[in-house]
Amino acid sequence: MFQKNMELELLIVDMGVDGTGIGKAEGVAFFVKDAVIGDRVLIKVMKMKKRYGFGKLLKVLEPSPYRVQPLCEFYRQCGGCQIQALDYAQQLKYKEKKVRSNLQRIGGFSIRDNTECEKQGILFHPIIGMEEPFFYRNKAQFPIGTDKNGKIVTGFYAARSHHIIPNRKCCLGVDINEKVLDIVISFMEDYHITAYDESTGKGLLRHVLVRFGFNTKEIMVCLVVNGRRIPHAQKLVERLAELSGMTSITLSVNEKNTNVIMGEEIVRLWGQGCITDTIGDISYQISPLSFFQVNPIQTRKLYETALAYAGLTGTETVWDLYCGIGTISLFLAQRAKHVYGVEIVEAAIADARNNASLNGIENVTFFVGKAEEILPSFYEDSMQESAKEPCPEISEGDIRESAAGEAEICKVEGQPGDMLHPDVIVVDPPRKGCDEKCLETILKMQPERVVYVSCDPATLARDLKYLCEQYYEVREVQPVDMFPQGVHTECVVGIQRKHI
Ligand code: SAH
Repeated sequence: MFQKNMELELLIVDMGVDGTGIGKAEGVAFFVKDAVIGDRVLIKVMKMKKRYGFGKLLKVLEPSPYRVQPLCEFYRQCGGCQIQALDYAQQLKYKEKKVRSNLQRIGGFSIRDNTECEKQGILFHPIIGMEEPFFYRNKAQFPIGTDKNGKIVTGFYAARSHHIIPNRKCCLGVDINEKVLDIVISFMEDYHITAYDESTGKGLLRHVLVRFGFNTKEIMVCLVVNGRRIPHAQKLVERLAELSGMTSITLSVNEKNTNVIMGEEIVRLWGQGCITDTIGDISYQISPLSFFQVNPIQTRKLYETALAYAGLTGTETVWDLYCGIGTISLFLAQRAKHVYGVEIVEAAIADARNNASLNGIENVTFFVGKAEEILPSFYEDSMQESAKEPCPEISEGDIRESAAGEAEICKVEGQPGDMLHPDVIVVDPPRKGCDEKCLETILKMQPERVVYVSCDPATLARDLKYLCEQYYEVREVQPVDMFPQGVHTECVVGIQRKHI
């Protein structure tokens, strides 16, 4: 009944996980990019499937009461912000709804709000949003290219393409980005430095990475180069070093024909190789290749919630799985007996160890490897050992430690835990969630509490369902808006062991 190229009117009643508007006509759902909930729109049908279709937004006939004028004029072309045309309060509602519906639909959980204290179910806290939901990013990567007139351009890739939209003023980033780009581009023009061309693999400058320490005001510039040096680099360095706060200027060598932005080799041009920033009382050294959360204001709130759910008093043993550069581990270590961090990327663990010593934190140990391999190998190996050598009677406070200070095997009920029976396990996996082997081992280790920091509510709900089949229950959920104007949604979940 609906055919390609037909035009029709729709009321947008919902928004999908990627921020696309959804409206229905005669029971058939249509996905319409750039339409927001509450809009009445005219669309052109672009593609039909059996039960749904895709439409192109031709005209907003009646704007939604939640529609706002986007701050960025390139909003529709750029793939960066999917929901900038939606009022911020509605963005937050959209994200809350996403978390709730995943927990209910995939996890099978019931949910209660703060106000309904008597009822059973997960306590769902209102999402923590930002007062100023723009200019929050501490990191930006700008591609450099040449337009059809031969002029050097920088900005952002158009959605799903490598066409550069010339825009130096992204409203998610900080002011300093534009100043850095102005200097780099005028230097390239003055000294005839070429921009990299992906199609030919020729040209020199590929990307400019800018990082800014929100608390320290330190600036890092890293120039990604198809080569090992930039001619007249000293002139560029002189100009950049004049910016107040400039701390680190480096080159990243990337001579490969690849979509990966950064090359692995970093060459220092001026200043330090890294910048420092703080979250709470902890300082972190951030190098060009380090992973660091991009929204420092919200990261602090996220970590404080994780810390609160961990319920630490100073005596606990904690595992921090998927620990990155140890950001959460160091936060937890201030209030725990010992924290064990696990992370797959070796360089991140080097940063984590470095950050621990920078802060004089000694009660942390980091392991490189997959969470689903490291955790089971510790557990299974030690269980086999302890089966050979049965546990002696344990008296109060008798938490044994081997001479090498490694495995502590026996846990006394009500006593602080040890490495194999920790008090708390924190997980912060990538979007695909935790591997089942990892979850299975968590259940075997029986920590009193599990804190799940998630960047994908669907895999979160799946993993919580697994954890809560028997011995655990989800106590509370706190969504935190780490990416205003975008669709991604983070939350922290407090999970408690049931004492049956
Ligand atoms: N907790 C950190 C990092 C979270 S991002 C922070 O808040 O900064 C998720 C991390 O998990 C990344 O650093 C990624 O490299 C790591 N990772 C991905 N798969 C993993 C696995 N199977 N085992 C351990 N770490 C993994």
